[in-house]
Formats: sequence, structure tokens, C-alpha cells
Amino acid sequence: MTKHVYTFGGDRNEGNASMRNLLGGKGCNLAEMAGLGIPVPPGFTVTTDVCTLYNQAGKQLPADVVEQIKEALKWLEGNQGRTLGNAEKPLLLSVRSGARDSMPGMMDTVLNLGLNDATVEGLAKASNNPRFAYDSYRRFIMMYSDVVLDVHKDHFEEKIEELKHKTGKKLDTEITAEEWKQLCGEFKAIVKAKLGRDFPQDPWEQLLGGIRAVFNSWDTERAIIYRRMNKIPDEWGTAVNVQTMVFGNMGDDCGTGVAFTRDPGTGEPYFYGEYLINAQGEDVVAGIRTPQPITKYQAADSGLKSLEEVMPDVYKELYDTCQKLEKHFKNMQDLEFTIQQGRLYMLQTRNGKRTALAGIRIALDMVKEGMIDEQEGLKRLNADDLTQLLAPIFDAKEKAAFKKAGKMMAKGLPAGPGAAVGLIALSAEEAVALAEKEESLDPSKRKGVVLVRIETSPEDLAGMVAAKGILTARGGMTSHAAVVARGMGKPCVCGASSLVIDVAKRTVSVGDIVLKAGEDFISIDGSAGEIYAGKLSAFPSEVNQVLVEKTLKPEASETFQRFAQIMEWSNKYRALKVRTNADTPHDAAVARAFGAQGIGLCRTEHMFFEDERIPAVREFILAKDEEARKAAVIKLLPYQRKDFEGIFTAMNGLPVTVRLLDPPLHEFVPHDEKGQAEMAKVLGVTIEEVKHRVEKLHEFNPMMGHRGCRLGITYPELIRMQMRAIAEAAINVSKQGVKAMPEVMVPLIGTVKELKFTKDQMLDEIAAVNKENGTDFMCPIGTMIEIPRAAITADKVAEEAEFFSFGTNDLTQMGFGYSRDDSGSFLPEYVSKKILEDDPFQSLDQEGIGELVRIACEKGRKTRPDIKLGVCGEHGGDPRSVKFFHRTGLAYVSCSPYRVPVAILAAAQAVLEEKK
Ligand code: PEP
Ligand code: MG
Repeated sequence: MTKHVYTFGGDRNEGNASMRNLLGGKGCNLAEMAGLGIPVPPGFTVTTDVCTLYNQAGKQLPADVVEQIKEALKWLEGNQGRTLGNAEKPLLLSVRSGARDSMPGMMDTVLNLGLNDATVEGLAKASNNPRFAYDSYRRFIMMYSDVVLDVHKDHFEEKIEELKHKTGKKLDTEITAEEWKQLCGEFKAIVKAKLGRDFPQDPWEQLLGGIRAVFNSWDTERAIIYRRMNKIPDEWGTAVNVQTMVFGNMGDDCGTGVAFTRDPGTGEPYFYGEYLINAQGEDVVAGIRTPQPITKYQAADSGLKSLEEVMPDVYKELYDTCQKLEKHFKNMQDLEFTIQQGRLYMLQTRNGKRTALAGIRIALDMVKEGMIDEQEGLKRLNADDLTQLLAPIFDAKEKAAFKKAGKMMAKGLPAGPGAAVGLIALSAEEAVALAEKEESLDPSKRKGVVLVRIETSPEDLAGMVAAKGILTARGGMTSHAAVVARGMGKPCVCGASSLVIDVAKRTVSVGDIVLKAGEDFISIDGSAGEIYAGKLSAFPSEVNQVLVEKTLKPEASETFQRFAQIMEWSNKYRALKVRTNADTPHDAAVARAFGAQGIGLCRTEHMFFEDERIPAVREFILAKDEEARKAAVIKLLPYQRKDFEGIFTAMNGLPVTVRLLDPPLHEFVPHDEKGQAEMAKVLGVTIEEVKHRVEKLHEFNPMMGHRGCRLGITYPELIRMQMRAIAEAAINVSKQGVKAMPEVMVPLIGTVKELKFTKDQMLDEIAAVNKENGTDFMCPIGTMIEIPRAAITADKVAEEAEFFSFGTNDLTQMGFGYSRDDSGSFLPEYVSKKILEDDPFQSLDQEGIGELVRIACEKGRKTRPDIKLGVCGEHGGDPRSVKFFHRTGLAYVSCSPYRVPVAILAAAQAVLEEKK
């Protein structure tokens, strides 16, 4: 018989931390804590496997699972000396989700389960606290109705508001036992009215309902979006944890809270957290009451009373427990606790979610403290996070000017670092709609969206994804908004209580500053917790200031020092070289400053678009014969030569792979009346003639049309000009002591003969240049592998190619047959319907396109064992793809300048992960 239910705590602790896949993160760690002798209320975990069985059985709990739950419950009742549903000594339970990877706030929870009209009286008597008993009962009816019965909590909250209004009370804590009791009656009436049946009084029915609801919540929209964002497989499922209730709402010697062993926002090594006296867990997380700080250090100057002062003994025990757990798990812990009548209970511990900056700092500090070694430190990092170290921050001077002008609206909690600017959206739907509207615009014209909410709930997730930043008026550092924003790496300011958000009038205001939703800009600084009316400009990160702008000294920036440390360690371990895709001297210099070891792709077409050159380019394309084409193309030579001189100089001593012209020619020709008139003048023909020639260039399928090496085969003068520009530039700069190391590659070949033809032209032109200059310039000539036929025949291609550079953008396009330009209309649905796991243009399809790469490497090496292999498609900056390229034995990856550090770290992680 398969074991489906594992007990924890008390005298039967059946799990431990190694059983994460089966018991989920919460379940396995509850057992681990119990095993360490930490006070954990006992309970049992229904395994993640049951989630799958449950779904397979059409959302039914299998009979043997129900039996095992019964058996575990019996043990728990014995252990507690209480019985579920017993009016004298009722056992009360919490029912919580717990997947392998934590999904904070995404799934459902039911607390106080087991209460009914009889047990609530028993609880009142036993606790000698009827107010507590009825407060718990009304919470249970609300939560259970919302989660299990699908009666939305708003119906109940309305009643509470009505009562407060009638009695003139402001806080939940002012409401009396009698009043709660009366509300419980009204709540049950709501359920009866909505469902036509009574609120379930049978605790066993309640328990099975609660367990089913948690399993169901694995498939809510928000949980699905969260999984997709965090790449959590749908098959993993959630476990369900059924645990003895402990109460933080029994009075002023009770409370509940969350703690982090280090600051999740900054990574500072300070114990950090929030708590509420006389409250239950959801009050803290939901952001309904703004919680108090745990430590005196945190409370400094705020006038708030910390747990350290209010309950020094409990604080000490909590502190010691948390430190013990951090040492045990060797990672920053995020903990939930409850204090019941002065006794501390731990309800959860997990590796805490953190901002990118905090993640980096914590890993480095733990290495320094000797808790982990540098290899483990590197493995812990999320390579993508490095882009956040390079992300813009607000200009300090402009911020000061805004402050002086009274445009700083408010301060809140710095819940997610970074700078975000955008139009105000007051709901998730609005944020999504605004962002969608902007998608068609050029990135430089987009305004961005900032989601501004009183508080966020998990339903807001889609809006948070769409927004650049998140701002809330209520809630603390551990509120839903804060936790989720940090997870997404979005700037977030929480608990800005002076903001007045008027949803009806569609305004956000403080005093006389009134901003209109959908029209006005708001700027939020998630590192400082500041909110500004209007649009602030962003400023380069500290890393940029040190490395690129050179306006900041390395020793003045801790952020930079951490960045440098990671790069230093990564460089020690990685085998892959990292180059960059750059076609201007500026981009090349930036990438070099970030650690690029050369240029892997210099696209020459961008050079053709500049204002002063485009007439010559057009003249070339629209010329009537070869003679005229040759005359036009030679006008481009001085420009091209200068471009290459700049790039070779910026990359002095490092290889620069130049690619010959690639895109379809019609991209360059004028399609507007004015441009065509200009061309007519230059060419000395009529506008009609120009129109005619432009029309002739029209292609039905330009991506598979006259582009790539086909251009040079039909117009050899073009590649000859480009080859000449490269050779002459290299010769020129070498006279200034620059070591130019060009490598030239031919795009889009499908057969070796295309390469051979092109190469012959190039060699011929090189010979001519050498003859004219009395030089002996030579450079490696290779090819891109971006057409499946080239990959499959790579042994032949390697006869001519000294190197391969995989153009995985086109290889994906041609391998799948998905247009790079049009796949946006169906790929998102392919991913959501799980036809594909990921967008293959973002993360390499290792099974198919990756196989083409592998075959090409193998065949290429067979012909030419020392052939140099690299990749220059966008995948060169995607950590998962980088790891694949390492395993496939490439020599380098090439990516955009800002992803160079990401690729460097991913390359090191690839090596360290192999060592496992
Ligand atoms: C590629 O196809 O992967 C590539 C790098 O070339 P481009 O994106 O310019 O087509
Ligand atoms: Mg390509």
C-alpha cells in the first residue's frame, strides 16, 4: 500500500527535509523542525502525489487516502487529547498548501477548521475567552466560505463594515464577543441564502472540503500564472498540511508574525520581521493591518513597539530558533510563527524569497562567514538577477529637485528595489490593458505602467506582471504585493498610507497633488520607498557608473564590489568564453567593460541605416545594372571602413566576428513618396521608375527570400566592398598599434557551395588589398549555421569554414518553421497549452534545435578537429541555453552587452552543476 499521509511533530515524526518532492516545502520542513526539537504544532501532510491522483480521479480523494487521513487524525487527536468536533475539547486544525517550491499566497488556506455551533462554545469555555472563540468562528466561516464554498469574502466583509459603521468602531479588536457572535449568525445566513444549504457543521466534512479546496487551488489562474513565471511544472502538485491550530488571537499575550534571518530587500545580515499582537496569520500577510517591527533596530525612530521590547523572552527564543534554522539550512530563512499565551510556535520555515540584490549579498556574505563555500555561493545565484545590478536607478539630483518642488508625494516601505516610472493603473485589468496597448509601440515610446492599489491580493498577479512597478497604500514588507514584487524583481513601494486612492474619481492624491489614472505619470523608488508625482529620469546603475561612465570609484560602491566578486569567481570556474553582439564602438566598449572577451556578432546592416549612408545604399539597391551598382557600393566603403576602425580599436586585442550583410534588401528602400522622390533625383529617373524598382523587390516571404549569403552571390561587389573595408580598417588601425583580430562570417548558408563562392570573392579581395598595400593581412573565414541543411551537412561545410557561429534565432525559425516576426500570434498560446514548454526564441529548444547544434558540432569536428564553435543567437544570453551550450562543448557564447555578466555566471554554474 502506498503511503499518502505522513505525520509530523509529537511522538510520530515521519518526514524530514530530504522529502521535499513528496511532502512539499512546508511539510518537509515542519518535520525537519520537529526533528530538531523546535516547537511545531503537530499535524500531518497529505503528499503531492495525492494532488495528481486527485486530479486524475476527476477531483475526488481516493478511498485509501481518506482512510490514511482518518488514521493520522486519530493519532493527532490522541496526541493532543482533543477530538475533532468534540464540544468539550475540540481539536481545531489549519489546512494549508505546500508545493515543492514555495508559491507565496498563490494557493488557499483554511484556519480554525473544526469550529461549529457546538465546538465554538466549548472553545469559549476552555479558553475562558468567548470573544476569541467567536472571532475565530467568524474567521473560519469567512475563510471556508470563500475558499471551499465559493462565497466571496466581500459579502462578509461588508457585514463587518456595516457593524463598525453602526457602532462607531474602527478596529476589529474593538468588536465584542456578542457582536462577533451575532455576525457569525449573519454569516451563516449569507451562506444559506447563496447556496440554499447550511454552512457545514460536520467537522469531518469540513476537513475533507478543506483538503479538496487546497488541491483545487493548485489550478487557479493565479497559481498557473505564477508557475509559468517561475517555471514550476504543473505535474508537481501541492501537498496539503493539516496542523493543530495554535492561536495568535487569544489576547494581548498572543500574536503572529513572519521573520527573515536577513533583510529580504537588501540582504543586510540583520534579523528582520513583522508581527501583530492578537491576530491570526492572514492579518499579517494580507496587509489588512500594518504590522509592527520585530527588532528594536528596525523600529528605530518609528515610534513603533518592537517584539523585542514587548515580549523580550519570546523574542529571544524566536531569535535563537531562527539563527539555528539558518545555520541548519545554510540559507536565509523566511519563517512564520505564532505566540499563544506567551508560548512560541514555529509554523513554517523556508529558504526566503529575496530581491536580486539581497540574493547576491546574502550568498557572498555566507561565503565570507564560512557558512558555504564560493562554489556553493555561485550556484545559489540566479544568473538572470545580474541584469538587475545593471538596471537604471533614478538620478539623485533630479530627485532632490523634485523634493524641493514639493513633488515627492509620500514615503512608503522600500519593498522591492529599483526605479519604475509609468502611467497610473488602479486595477490589474487596467494595468494589463495599458501595457497591451503599448506593446505595438517602439520601446523608446512606451510610457510604462505603475500599478497603484490600496493593497494587492493574489488576483492582481496579471496586473503586477504587466506593470513596471507596484505601489500600495497598505501592507508591510511581507504583504502579498511586497513578496510577489520581489520575486518578480519589480520595484515596489508598500504601505504608503498617506496616499489617497479614489477608485471612483480615478485619482491618486496626497494633499493638493492629484494625479489622474491612465493620464499622469508616477515615479517610484523601490530602494528608498519614495513616491514622486511626474516622470523622473532613470540613471545608470552603480556598476555602470564604475565600469562604463567611470564616474564612481570601485571602493565607493558595495554593489560594484559584489558584482566584481561574482565575476572573479565565475571566471575561475567557467570553460565557455563570453563574447558580445555589438555593432557600434560604444556598445563594444560597454560590453568589454562588463567582461566580454570579444565580439561574436557584429551585424553590418545597422551601419547601413544611418542617415548619411542610406542614399548610397538605396542607390546601390535600385541601380539598373552591375556598373551602376559597383559605382554606388564603393561610396559606402569609407563609412564601413571607419565603422570597423572604431570597433577594432574598442576591442583592441580581442576577436571581432563580422558578419556580411544579411537582411532582405527591400528593408532599405524608400516606401514613402518623399523618399522615392529623393531617390528619383539621385538616380536621374522618374518617380514611377523608382516605384517600379521598389515593387520589384517586394517578396512574399522575405525572411526566406533574397537575403543572407544570397545577396553576395547575386551581387559580389557588395561582399567585396565589405571585405575590403574590414581588411583596410585592420591594416589602418594596426599602424596605430591596435591589434585588430577580425573574423569574417557568411550568413545563412545552406550548402557548402554558397560558402565556397563567397569565400573565393573574399579571398580575392583580400589579395587585392594586400597587393595595393604591400601587406599580408589575413583573417579566419567562417560561417553562421542557421539553416538546418547547413547543420546536417556540417562535415561538408567545415571543409571551407574555419569556424561556425550558430545563429540560433534563424535556426529556430527555420527548424520549427515559425516566423520570427509573426510567431507572437500563436506562441503564447502554444506555451499556455503546453504544446511547448517555453518560447523557443527565448530559451533554446534543446531537444530539437539543440540536436541540430549538436549534430553540426560533431560533424564539423570530424572534418576539422580544431574548428572554433560559438553561438550568437539571442540564446547566448539565456542561462539555461548557456548551460546547454557548455554541455555541447562550444567554445563561446555571444550575447547583448547587458547580458554578458549573466552569461559569465551561467557558464560558471554550468561547470559547477556538472560536478554534483
Ligand atoms: C541568428 O539568426 O541567430 C542571428 C544571430 O542572426 P540574426 O538574428 O541577425 O538573423
Ligand atoms: Mg540569422
